[in-house]
Amino acid sequence: MSQPDVVVVGGGALGSATAWQLARRGADVVLLEQFGFGHHRGASHGTSRILRRSYHTPAYVRLADEAYADWSVLEAEAGERLVTRVGGLDLFPRDAAIPPADYVASLTACGVPFEQLSGAEVSARWPALVLPEDILAVHQADTSIVPAGRGTATLQRRARAAGARLVDRCPVLELVDRGKAGVEVRTPLESYRPSRVVLTADSWTNDLLAPLGAAVPLTVTREQVTYFAPEDPGAFGPDRLPVWIWMDDPSFYGFPTYGESGTGHLVKAAQDCGGALTSADGRSFDTDQAALDLLTRFLGPLLPGVGPAVRTETCLYTLTPDRDFVLGPVAAHPCVLLGLGAGHGFKFAPTLGGVLADLVAEGTTTIDIAAFAPDRPALVQAGHPVSWLA
Ligand SMILES: Cc1cc2nc3c(=O)[nH]c(=O)nc-3n(C[C@H](O)[C@H](O)[C@H](O)COP(=O)(O)OP(=O)(O)OC[C@H]3O[C@@H](n4cnc5c(N)ncnc54)[C@H](O)[C@@H]3O)c2cc1C
Repeated sequence: MSQPDVVVVGGGALGSATAWQLARRGADVVLLEQFGFGHHRGASHGTSRILRRSYHTPAYVRLADEAYADWSVLEAEAGERLVTRVGGLDLFPRDAAIPPADYVASLTACGVPFEQLSGAEVSARWPALVLPEDILAVHQADTSIVPAGRGTATLQRRARAAGARLVDRCPVLELVDRGKAGVEVRTPLESYRPSRVVLTADSWTNDLLAPLGAAVPLTVTREQVTYFAPEDPGAFGPDRLPVWIWMDDPSFYGFPTYGESGTGHLVKAAQDCGGALTSADGRSFDTDQAALDLLTRFLGPLLPGVGPAVRTETCLYTLTPDRDFVLGPVAAHPCVLLGLGAGHGFKFAPTLGGVLADLVAEGTTTIDIAAFAPDRPALVQAGHPVSWLA
């Protein structure tokens, strides 16, 4: 087998998108995944993820614009619908821990249309949601749902179609920087010697950085999402309920019914950043009953008809201290590029894959990634304050 130009480590959404974007640009790329494709041990499995424009900084709002465009390219190439536009509500209670002003200012600065509604106006339009009067709701009509497991599989299918070699059940044991001679990528099967490596290993990232004498301050949490069975699923359909995010601490979010893998009549909801600290290999798959009780208590008054919890799934967040992405070279090892989604990267996967492909090919990209530099203060200053809710 000929030596590839690039090896991508990790077959989740970011790695698969990077392999797709690299192969589309004509690069000879090999993607290596330690488990079987479609596994449920990382962060890219399950039914659904939120794609939205409403973010707390203009840089993210602009990046979301790129993401919508890249999802459309992927849909067209794959001949498959991936983006289901349902609208989204950011719900800010009085004295919310997450300031609405950042969202309003960022959407305004980027010319993205939105509405500001009261609790009563929201409940009048979407009767499934019962809100206190003094809620400020920001409604953005383009908020959408993208399929997690199916979307990742589509990226892999398109990467193969563009010529990428995707190998699963092949763990990368070590990366050895050989300087001008490239990077030696050791696996149980064989060693590769590409000129560049893209490390999109999320919760496992530091396992591969350690032998290179590098590390990123990452916190891994075990998050869980729960499916509820409403008596009248129709009242929670995408035409009757938008995606919603409760912008406070604790923060919760939820979806209308969405028909992936037998959950079409179920309503999914979860707490954001409510998971216990864990590690990629030490995590359990058990339901955290206390977290489920907290979610159920929260949903009771907000979505009175949501029904009983019927299924809970776990998934890993890999959080940087500022919860911003990491995109760029490892200090002292410029031939190893990092891609980390910080627990909110799925919506941007096709775009982050493009950015990483640009960095491999050109060493630079036209997209503003200044906030995601691997050597930014939040990642190099010891004890940098943590802020995961923004
Ligand atoms: C509950 C939950 C809800 C979320 N909701 C949203 C949302 O609504 N919107 C959104 O945009 N994002 C959301 N996210 C975040 C998003 O899902 C992740 O940011 C994204 O999936 C990360 O993709 P990844 O490819 O970086 O990571 P992963 O999917 O974890 O992929 C990393 C891969 O690397 C592989 N790997 C690791 N080490 C090695 C090795 N040594 N050799 C070979 N392979 C290796 C792993 O096996 C794994 O497959 C959510 C995440 C969770 C957990």
